[in-house]
Amino acid sequence: MITKNGKGVFGGVAFGNIKIFNEHKTIKKYFTTDTVGEKARFENARNKAYDETVRLMEKTRDEVGEKEAAIFEIHSMMINDDDFVSAVVSKIEGGINAEAAVHEAGEQMAEQFSSLNDSYMKQRAADVIDVAERVVNAFGDTDIKKDSHEEKSIIVAYDLTPSQTVQLRDQNISGFITEGGSGNSHTAILARTMNIPAVIGVKGILDEAYDGRFAAVDSSSGTIYIEPNATTIKRLKDKKEKSDNEIQLLQRYKGVKTVTRGGRNVMLYANISNMTDMDMVLANDAEGIGLFRSEFIFMGRSTFPSEAEQFDIYKKAVEKMEGKRVIIRTLDIGADKKVDYFNLPDEENPALGYRAIRICLDRTNIFKVQLRAILKASVYGKTAIMFPMICTLEELRKAKEILNEVKLELDFEGVRYDRNIEVGIMIETPAAALISETLARECDFFSIGTNDLTQYTLAVDRQNSMVNSKFDTDHESILRLIRFTAQNAKKEGIWIGICGELGADKRLTERFIKWGIDELSVSPVYILGLRKYITEMDI
Ligand code: PEP
Ligand code: MG
Repeated sequence: MITKNGKGVFGGVAFGNIKIFNEHKTIKKYFTTDTVGEKARFENARNKAYDETVRLMEKTRDEVGEKEAAIFEIHSMMINDDDFVSAVVSKIEGGINAEAAVHEAGEQMAEQFSSLNDSYMKQRAADVIDVAERVVNAFGDTDIKKDSHEEKSIIVAYDLTPSQTVQLRDQNISGFITEGGSGNSHTAILARTMNIPAVIGVKGILDEAYDGRFAAVDSSSGTIYIEPNATTIKRLKDKKEKSDNEIQLLQRYKGVKTVTRGGRNVMLYANISNMTDMDMVLANDAEGIGLFRSEFIFMGRSTFPSEAEQFDIYKKAVEKMEGKRVIIRTLDIGADKKVDYFNLPDEENPALGYRAIRICLDRTNIFKVQLRAILKASVYGKTAIMFPMICTLEELRKAKEILNEVKLELDFEGVRYDRNIEVGIMIETPAAALISETLARECDFFSIGTNDLTQYTLAVDRQNSMVNSKFDTDHESILRLIRFTAQNAKKEGIWIGICGELGADKRLTERFIKWGIDELSVSPVYILGLRKYITEMDI
């Protein structure tokens, strides 16, 4: 048994086989005369990759929609494409191993697609790389299954970008381990939303020798056990059982109102980034969606989602919540959330650069499509719009002006939408907090994004593991900004919530409520525990 330590960013115990996720992972290439054996291995991997793709297609069709599932249909056809198969086979016959043959054939086909003067075919280049990678990974699966009986994977990476995490979420993952990474990054947030134990900062974990080996993650202590012995497995299983029992006990808080003993009502909402999070939202009885990170709809794909595609997703979310409020945050792309097809420039300081509302106010065509889709969905339930990264009153006014233009267009087209749709803003810059009195006069609600508010107030990059220890989310300055903003919201008669990670910090819940915070929007897993805590409060 090998033991390694890091920092747990989300509690719980997980078992699984280590799967090293390395963007630049070198595919092992060797020469072999066993062409028959290699062809059989290729066939086996290809079948597995095909089954996996069909599974993804069906899951996406059920959970997201027909259009989103279409890409997997293309992928499944590519896996069986004669040109692709014969390119791999001829490389194997040339004397190389099957994984290398698949990888090389994929790269070659992608190059051919890219060189064509056809934008559709150019887009397929990324797909063929994706498909080849899925087939290559399917070889790995074969080995993993030989090593142990676990079906689930513990993903190990140096760090994961949000879009990589999104792509991984459809796989059977039980845990995340990163060598670098930051507890405040979107990857950590996604792990919490997906209810997957995650440990970061584990030095030396990327050693290829660990690939495929059975491991256990104890994220409450930040410990990783590679090939744990029987005593450790038993101890961790007991720990897991205990925590599962605690979760079970919280089930009785479903359907209970979140009201303190003194009668203060708190809206306990959930943060989501994808329709697949909806199951967790409903299972944990969220009273609304306080933050739908809509930018994740734009990730993990190679083209802009159309108005119809977006409408479909927002409508589904709103309908699923059956009249409970769904706050859709408009596109917050940029900084760590990169999407290739936006063609954003490389920046010296992306967190201080071209991101979120700044991009939307500039590239109004993208913004308007999103606003149209949200407005159209608003007739299916209680929907609200929230603008991210507001720093000035002008930005809020400009965003509202564009929203009004879109409303007029819909009026002209005779399309229905909720005319009283609420419009709020995120308070995630010290600038917004300090001018919150003025901003409150021109919007319906505030939601404090403590993740970015901490980053910008303390001048600590939330992505940078070297300054992780300085990311002091309950620093006096942050608490003062929250309290000040809440006072201004109350003064101007609007409601206020917190949707950053600090909203789930029980050490502060009582203070937040006393300061006038009306809503807490947290990862779905925290809802029932917070409800129990709040209902036992004397406020
Ligand atoms: C925040 O900044 O606190 C927030 C909720 O937004 P995100 O984490 O998506 O940047
Ligand atoms: Mg933010």
